[in-house]
Amino acid sequence: MTQFMVPGISLESSLKAALLSETRTGVYAAAGIHPNELDSDSSCSPDEIPEILLRPRVIAVGETGLDLYRDRVPEKLQIKVFKEHIKLAETFGLTLIVHSRSAERKILDIMGHDVTVPVIMHCYTGPADIAREAVDRGYFIGFAGVLTFSKNHRLRDLAGSLPADRILIETDAPYLSPEPVRGRRNEPCNVKYIADTISEIWGRSPFDTAGTLMKNSLKAMQLGPNRRTDLVYLLYGNIYMNITGTCTNKCRFCVKSRTDGIGGYYLKHHGEPSEERLDSIIKTLSPQTGKELVFCGYGEPTMRPELLRRLAGSASDRGFSVRLNTNGTCLARLSPEKTAEILEPFDTVSVSLNASCREEYNDICRPADETSWDRMMEFIELARRVASIRLTAVRYPGVPIESVKKLAKSLSLPFRIRG
Ligand code: SF4
Repeated sequence: MTQFMVPGISLESSLKAALLSETRTGVYAAAGIHPNELDSDSSCSPDEIPEILLRPRVIAVGETGLDLYRDRVPEKLQIKVFKEHIKLAETFGLTLIVHSRSAERKILDIMGHDVTVPVIMHCYTGPADIAREAVDRGYFIGFAGVLTFSKNHRLRDLAGSLPADRILIETDAPYLSPEPVRGRRNEPCNVKYIADTISEIWGRSPFDTAGTLMKNSLKAMQLGPNRRTDLVYLLYGNIYMNITGTCTNKCRFCVKSRTDGIGGYYLKHHGEPSEERLDSIIKTLSPQTGKELVFCGYGEPTMRPELLRRLAGSASDRGFSVRLNTNGTCLARLSPEKTAEILEPFDTVSVSLNASCREEYNDICRPADETSWDRMMEFIELARRVASIRLTAVRYPGVPIESVKKLAKSLSLPFRIRG
């Protein structure tokens, strides 16, 4: 086995799962509050879930859903929290792991047809017609040890009738041990017994079956070739908003040419992220989550000027300390008035300088517009009138750190070396 998904069922277990995932290769986590774990105790409030969702290896929201089999938690509260979890999954673009017991119809009705993220009907034992409807909507159906129970012909018939590309297997360990180890504590390695049962149902070799199931898992969890972009992430105690993948420069040191992300986050874009999702992220985050909210990109954030101004304004109104990380060349594309408008909500502006004159800049940063250096100098003068500004340079062969430092000093501006 090469990759594991560890779901949380409470705030505490979600955080544990997230921390475990950061210390073990191939482990990913889901954060959520299981319907049976809900109570009036504020320690089970879903309000703190977003903070866990921002951790680098948390890739799903769950377990969440409804459990009407046990009469432990009022249905109204379960539905409320389930809806909040759906919203969180959509906001952060995370897969939704749904627990459903004696509530399958209600689950589908609540989700409707418009959930925008992959949905896993986890540990499914419900009616066949609901499973088919779920599959028609594009959801995945997860089968656990119950599938292997010798008398459970109904569930095996269901698994055999569903499209192979919608089926997932799981252990739900430490519960639901499969047939050969039934009655004992379940372990992730027992997933092989469920794979064997699927292999028999499909009449395909274990190798072929494993390949299909792995492909399905990567799709359901948005991993491997299906990897989703992290639009928001936590680093150095700050929250970073990754709002674009475009840039006018082609810096020799640009991290984009060497890797798809940093700090365990996947930051590469496959198309520009939707304004609606970025808006929703700002509204969901709390100013307590990080010291600063930093607008950056796996690119240059001023490439989306209107959006940047609106998001930064909204964050500032919500009490965030807001910083812009920029290459400072936007005056090559935007008027001074428009640029001043964008800068208005920012408390801090960090300009990535990396050179001490135009020739050096053109050689190291390779801007689309050869006058970019002059525009950047104008930008620095404009920005220092409205925000606290600092200059930076990346530690990289060819970047003249000492000369840049001297220039920053001559401009009486703080300087920081990055990388
Ligand atoms: S300005 Fe930033 S995003 Fe653009 S090429 Fe340079 S390092 Fe990369």
